[in-house]
Amino acid sequence: MYLVKEDRFENESQLFEHSPVPTVCINSSGGILHANYSAQALFSLDMTQLVNKPLTTSIMPVDRRRFNNYLAELEDGNSAHCELTFKMRFGGKLNTLFLGKPIIENGHFQFSIVSIIDISAQKLVENSLHETKEELQHLAHHDSLTNLPNRYLLEDRLETAMARIKRNGWMGALVFIDVDRFKIINDDYGHHVGDEVLIEVAKRLRLTVREQDTVCRYSGDEFIIILEDITCKADATNVIKKIIDGFSQPIHDLIEHPLIVSASAGACLFDKSDYDCDELIKKADYAMYESKKRGRNCYTFFSAEHSIAQNLNIIMENELSMAIEKNEFQLHFQPQIDATTNRIEGVEVLTRWMHPSRGIVGPDDFIQRMENAHLSSHLTEWVLSQACKVGKSLIDRGLEFGRIAVNITPKEFTSTSLIAVVEKSLVDSGLPANKLELELTESSIMQNPALAEKLLHQFNQMGIRLTLDDFGTGYSALSCLNDYPFHCIKIDKSFVDNLSDNKKSSTLVDAMMSIANSLGLDIIAEGVETKEQLTQLNKIGCNLMQGFYFSTPISEDELSEYLLKKQIGKSSQRSSVIPLH
Ligand code: C2E
Ligand code: CA
Ligand code: CA
Repeated sequence: MYLVKEDRFENESQLFEHSPVPTVCINSSGGILHANYSAQALFSLDMTQLVNKPLTTSIMPVDRRRFNNYLAELEDGNSAHCELTFKMRFGGKLNTLFLGKPIIENGHFQFSIVSIIDISAQKLVENSLHETKEELQHLAHHDSLTNLPNRYLLEDRLETAMARIKRNGWMGALVFIDVDRFKIINDDYGHHVGDEVLIEVAKRLRLTVREQDTVCRYSGDEFIIILEDITCKADATNVIKKIIDGFSQPIHDLIEHPLIVSASAGACLFDKSDYDCDELIKKADYAMYESKKRGRNCYTFFSAEHSIAQNLNIIMENELSMAIEKNEFQLHFQPQIDATTNRIEGVEVLTRWMHPSRGIVGPDDFIQRMENAHLSSHLTEWVLSQACKVGKSLIDRGLEFGRIAVNITPKEFTSTSLIAVVEKSLVDSGLPANKLELELTESSIMQNPALAEKLLHQFNQMGIRLTLDDFGTGYSALSCLNDYPFHCIKIDKSFVDNLSDNKKSSTLVDAMMSIANSLGLDIIAEGVETKEQLTQLNKIGCNLMQGFYFSTPISEDELSEYLLKKQIGKSSQRSSVIPLH
């Protein structure tokens, strides 16, 4: 033990003098009565210089009022602490904590003992924690690429805007913006260019709207703008037009040539009534899709008609999500004929939805909806597995059908799982790969040409036949056909329709024929309905055909019957089944 009983008082005073904590005794107005060695060091003054010095002069002016209150507190007889910035004699400042205790004798204040603790390090940590917290707050509410508010902050801003509009009685608009064909930019030029495009888009959007309007990056290439304080639809229209126009300026210095991007917009107005944020976003999103359907680079306002369609969509999407489980899909088959030999070369699988109350629903009314609802992969899987089973069963029954052709949407084609799904269907059913054909459209390639090429080669190596469907309706250059291992091109029905009365159409089909021939590809015409069309096609040299003239899409049983009749030479040329259309 350091303290020895007999000179305890002496040592206690030494304890004060030598304490590593700077400590002073002060009177009620802060005048220094005594300072220990650490305090003398802190003030850079010795005891003689410190006596009677007002402590206030060592406190930064901004803290002086607080210090005076602190002195009053001590004088009142209360122990007190206070954070004060201490001014060093030769420059610099310290964050300090003053810990004070008043000495009271006979109920009267005598003096206070104040320890001055350096808390600079602690303050530094606190400040940086505060900054980190603020930074994290910012990060959580802003998109790191464009620094725009993100979807989490959007909801906040939207609610604030709605509250303001409720008060001032004006109007607001929620504008959903989607960069057109952004995926192609990303795929063709790489993600770094894609990122730069998004930064530029963000900048242009920000510059087009007013300060009080919110521009937010909703996700990927989707942006949402909240326009506030508008008086009518025309006000919103003007801003949206400006936004769309803003896109028309090419972006320079990103790639070797100026890059032109466009955007599609959907808008939804709101007034002082009650709205649900999600509902508004969905409506603007819906309207944006309408713009995409109308050919992109335009805007659409959500209307009452959309509301009805959107409700129907929601109902249909819900029903579709159950349709596979409920076994409501059915495959129909349409024969593909070689008109010169009358042989059947293939059957195309066309899916029908047997809706319990709506009756037979055609694929044009459900494929896109299933894609929107992210259900299409289930359908593709189901169609492929059923189609392969039917094919194998026909083989087992000795019925000759050529190949069984399944339609694949662009989205499904580029999905990572398609190869595995096709392999599984073949293995599970036992159908040889060369009996399966996939029908793909030009957009399957255009969406991601490099990936498409890779996938097509893989399917080709598996022995699967590949057909380019709806040929002539897309925008790909005919020359690009050379790069992809297709076996067949299918001339779109629109060309066949115009064959007899449109010279241009027959010239085009003629041109398609020569391309197919020069590339060693088969060519098939779809939608053949009349004898004249058949004759015309024969003249041009196109012999493979499919259409109502031969047969409408028919059920599995009807197909078996059709094949059997053909095989035993009893086939009548036309099927009696009534077309779906
Ligand atoms: P598609 O591949 O162009 O199929 C041909 C469409 O034309 C079919 O319509 C067929 O019924 C119809 N059709 C065939 N011959 C004639 C004719 O002579 N005259 C007329 N007016 N029409 C004819 P459907 O079955 O309504 O199919 C529409 C589209 O839906 C198909 O177009 C195809 O792209 C898609 N589709 C059908 N089933 C499936 C499927 O299981 N999966 C995917 N991904 N798409 C499918
Ligand atoms: Ca097809
Ligand atoms: Ca087609």
